[in-house]
Amino acid sequence: MKVFADGSIFMLNVGYEMKTEIYEKSIDLASQKMLQKAEEEGIETAWDRYEKQLPQCSFGQLGVCCRNCNMGPCRIDPFGEGAQKGICGATADIIVARNFLRMIAAGAAAHSDHARDAVLTFKKMSEGEAGSYRIKDEAKLLSLASEYGIPSEGKSLEEVAGKLADTLLQEFGKQDGHLQCTRRVPESRLKLWAELGIEPRGIDREIVECMHRTHIGVDNDAVHILLQGLRTGLSDGWGGSMIATDVQDVLFGTPQPRRSTVNLGVLSSDKVNVIVHGHEPILSEMIVEAAEDPELLKLAEEKGASGINVAGICCTGNETLMRHGTPIAGTFLQQELAVITGAVEAMVVDVQCVMPSLGELTGCYHTKFISTSPKADFPNTVRMEFHENRAYETAKEIVKIAVENFPNRVPEKVTIPEEKQECMVGFSAEAILSALGGSPDPLIEAIKGGAVRGIGAVVGCNNVKIKHNYGHVNLVKELIKNNVLVVTTGCNAIACAEAGLLLPEASEMAGDGLKAVCKALGIPPVLHMGSCVDISRILVLASAIANRLGVDISDLPAAGAAPEWMSEKAVSIGAYVVSSGVFTVLGTIPAVLGSQAVTSLLTGGLNGVVGASFAVEPDPLKAADLMLEHIDEKRKALGLN
Ligand code: SF4
Ligand code: SF4
Repeated sequence: MKVFADGSIFMLNVGYEMKTEIYEKSIDLASQKMLQKAEEEGIETAWDRYEKQLPQCSFGQLGVCCRNCNMGPCRIDPFGEGAQKGICGATADIIVARNFLRMIAAGAAAHSDHARDAVLTFKKMSEGEAGSYRIKDEAKLLSLASEYGIPSEGKSLEEVAGKLADTLLQEFGKQDGHLQCTRRVPESRLKLWAELGIEPRGIDREIVECMHRTHIGVDNDAVHILLQGLRTGLSDGWGGSMIATDVQDVLFGTPQPRRSTVNLGVLSSDKVNVIVHGHEPILSEMIVEAAEDPELLKLAEEKGASGINVAGICCTGNETLMRHGTPIAGTFLQQELAVITGAVEAMVVDVQCVMPSLGELTGCYHTKFISTSPKADFPNTVRMEFHENRAYETAKEIVKIAVENFPNRVPEKVTIPEEKQECMVGFSAEAILSALGGSPDPLIEAIKGGAVRGIGAVVGCNNVKIKHNYGHVNLVKELIKNNVLVVTTGCNAIACAEAGLLLPEASEMAGDGLKAVCKALGIPPVLHMGSCVDISRILVLASAIANRLGVDISDLPAAGAAPEWMSEKAVSIGAYVVSSGVFTVLGTIPAVLGSQAVTSLLTGGLNGVVGASFAVEPDPLKAADLMLEHIDEKRKALGLN
């Protein structure tokens, strides 16, 4: 038995020896093993860099520093002894609210720009300039066309697609009128948004207005600033993100239930491993196809590999998982660990959640780090810029680089953890309704009868401040144990899959009522609804249930959570989920505590405005209690026992 220099050892009952502090970084055994390998090989990870950042700056944590003009930076003394105003006179309330609004704007921009790229690809496809793409879901195309008032009779699918693409592009820059997707929400909510002046306008307009309002000397009222945050979030949820989901479904197919595998153990010891990482499925769809190209498979054989294995990380991974069953190697915090296996021939990235550290890290192994988005480059990458007109060709070139890199694998550096877990995924709103027999009624009846106590939407990232996957898995387990059906997206979905919660058999961990419903329908107690932009699918499902019951979304026995959130996109998501009427518990503390006014508005005052608010609770079991309490209150108000 090895004893480490500092005396700490940890013996897991699988016979694997682990340093205590490594065990404390992640609940996932595959990740623990790779963290240990990293330490043995002298490789730095996000956890090491986090430790070097400690103690993190308290002004930043409280949100009270401002760099919005060059008279600053200014910061407010939270103890009331030093400066209470910035040079321009901005108070803590103003500074915190402005910083929060800028986070929402950045998050909404990320989702919406993703959506714009999807629509531009869709438009090029309709014009025959993106030959590798086809319309995969005709029914969804026609249904969207009708929703947007585009006649389809007597027109080719490409003509309809072209008109729809033009109309969708207008949504981004719309100066007047409403976003069409907002017509999916219950009327009472729409009316509320209109009364509050937060009904979202064109997505670009909202984001630009955030940046304008937070410029020195513009919007200087915390409540006024935050209302713009809600409006901008709504333009993301019911605009940008929803458009991304809809168009991707038309282009790549609406997900249907299927089985796959997750975790680092999906990497293959004898195949060429290509990881697709980031958020947009536009190129990765082609990479999945290119990996089956007979020419490349033959080349792989010549290079000594038995095939080509594509695996995902983060939401690009979720997109290909949902539509093709492509395995997922891990969550946000596992991106470095995948490279550390020494078995990745190419790490192919597009946009969002890609750590720049991958540049230096891949240099320690044989992995080629390939950046593909015209918008995003990283240190030490092979640039393979992707354009729709030659999408398949670029995908083939990328896979070829990976295949040719296979002989460079260094056997002594390769350790692939054996941990991998089967999962059932692909629960789009359409797939859920179809599993329910075509309408939400069976679910509504199960909720009314009490077999299903309520619905929990659990989403979001990993964050080194919380033990990897600990918040996700424990919160979800506690919810299903208490008969709450969980819908999930993003890294929470991957974490749940790694913990075996995305299998029908996981209903054994659920309370009796939920277990019976899952068994009758053959579904898991935790339904994977997709990537982060696919939180829009959760909104659509919530709207369908609320409309069927004739109530507002805020009346539903439902609650949301983001136990390990970290990105600005998550702040935008929080803004639109709460503004849509869903109480949401955050597992990490947003940088707002420096303003009492902003904190109490977000965690309480919003209830009187949009009928929902945030809570912050890092302990996942206590977070589950808060959600259950909220669900029970809503059940009572609806007259359900
Ligand atoms: S905008 Fe005001 S608070 Fe911010 S840096 Fe400039 S002077 Fe300071
Ligand atoms: S959940 Fe967060 S970390 Fe994971 S892919 Fe989405 S935005 Fe990135």
